[in-house]
Amino acid sequence: MARVLIIGGGVSGLSAGIYAQLYGHQAIVCERSESVGGNLIGWQRNEYHIDNCIHWLTGTNPHSDTYKMWEELGALGDVEIMQGDSLYTCEYGGKRLSLKKDLDELKQDMLLISPQDKNEILSFIKAIEALQYICNIGGKDHSEGFGAWGYISSFPLLLKYHRMSTKELARCFKSEMIRQFILCFLGDDFASSALLFVFAHFTALNGGIPRGSSYEMAQRMKNRLVSLGGEILTKKEAIKINCENGIAHSVLFKDGTVAEADYIVLTPDPKMIFEKIIDLKMPRQLKQAYDNRRLFRFSSYHCAFSCNCNDIDFTGDFIFEIPENAQRKLHTKYLILREFSHESSFAPKGKCVLQSLTFCNERIAKEFIELRKNTNAYRAKKQELASLIKELIIARFPKLESSLTLIDMWTPATYHRYVNSEIGSFMSFAMVPKQSLSRMSNKIKGLKNVFLATQWQQAPGGLPIAAQGGKLAIEAIVKAEARQVKHNSKKPVPIKAFN
Ligand SMILES: Cc1cc2nc3c(=O)[nH]c(=O)nc-3n(C[C@H](O)[C@H](O)[C@H](O)COP(=O)(O)OP(=O)(O)OC[C@H]3O[C@@H](n4cnc5c(N)ncnc54)[C@H](O)[C@@H]3O)c2cc1C
Repeated sequence: MARVLIIGGGVSGLSAGIYAQLYGHQAIVCERSESVGGNLIGWQRNEYHIDNCIHWLTGTNPHSDTYKMWEELGALGDVEIMQGDSLYTCEYGGKRLSLKKDLDELKQDMLLISPQDKNEILSFIKAIEALQYICNIGGKDHSEGFGAWGYISSFPLLLKYHRMSTKELARCFKSEMIRQFILCFLGDDFASSALLFVFAHFTALNGGIPRGSSYEMAQRMKNRLVSLGGEILTKKEAIKINCENGIAHSVLFKDGTVAEADYIVLTPDPKMIFEKIIDLKMPRQLKQAYDNRRLFRFSSYHCAFSCNCNDIDFTGDFIFEIPENAQRKLHTKYLILREFSHESSFAPKGKCVLQSLTFCNERIAKEFIELRKNTNAYRAKKQELASLIKELIIARFPKLESSLTLIDMWTPATYHRYVNSEIGSFMSFAMVPKQSLSRMSNKIKGLKNVFLATQWQQAPGGLPIAAQGGKLAIEAIVKAEARQVKHNSKKPVPIKAFN
């Protein structure tokens, strides 16, 4: 049995810990915060619960491959999967268009808004359907896969979208409403195939929210790890990996303690790993990704308000264009609002949590992190932004004027502080046109027994990519152990049941 030390207790780390236990090894997850979950987290503000993460979770359709992984990780438990009627609604020029869970309805809505775009709409819908079949979630029951011919025949269509940015995709449509519908969700510069991916999974009922949302999902994964015999150490910040002759033998923590390990799995932002924890060069592929200006990073700032539920007339996410003077101040064209009526326990009866999300680029994210060093200036900036966002919401929904109350605000500086990501990013690099979809290696040149398990190895990151990273790192360890069994006649480790 190998002792596997896992640095970071987010989804990547919990997944690595669970798979290590399942493969018969001893997992010790070391997390620098007081609790595990990383970005998959929610917190209380008086009688309100604020959810930080799951808008949609890929892998909630039992026919998808990812579902099996979530089951092994105990992430879904036996809770209800909530599949909202729509993922987001875009409002433009007084009209609304929603990404509905029923693809036929979406097609009809788009055709109704813009009959002159019929050919482009049909091509877009066909590509969504093709992607569903490729992911084994096609057909009426969202349970069918393609045969070999299906893959081949859909290739040219999917390639067309893979080469296009969202901005170029939007330009294919004559209707301004449809253009805005495409641009408001991921912005201008993402690969349009990333948008197709979202549409394909949501409309194949493979993008729901497990009841209890982010916090509860993290707790279930934590419980699964502990029930398998894994250990969790909190308030343990790794500051150095101690190595000798190409082998890492222990980890030094900020509190001065040292833990020994046969293998180490590293899950934090690689920028932090290779600048602060390991005295080695970042692997070439990752370095190239950080240096590649096309592969931009991003973060966001958020306000959480309480309000009367009856005063909101949308469900899911609602995105609208804001006036130009506000666009200049917030550095964004759109404001994204999200309501949580699907989780009645998040607020007292009759009340709702309404969150705003404003994406920001690397430069602005770094400005927030820098500003936080001056507490008063940072507080003033947050107040200024929160007031403006409140004004914008009330201007759009005047009924909310009497009940809208700020309960919390957080920024890239918050993410930087809590999950130790360099610019406060919580996803990986943005997925851009023509980008390779393969995952970067988890090996580190010069260290035989240390593996990476980060969402940064595959754009655009997210929960399934993080969890998959943990699984792959452990599979690499299992292979390394098998090699030792062969060469040193070490006894093989019995594998626990994967149930
Ligand atoms: C607002 C928001 C909405 C999102 N929505 C979705 C969504 O709808 N669907 C989806 O799939 N994804 C979503 N995500 C992304 C998702 O949360 C992340 O992809 C995922 O949580 C990443 O997990 P991770 O374990 O790789 O990294 P992290 O969550 O960053 O975890 C890394 C952990 O390592 C710890 N750590 C760092 N340095 C050290 C150290 N030196 N020593 C010990 N521990 C350390 C950190 O404290 C942290 O707990 C969202 C994220 C946010 C913030």
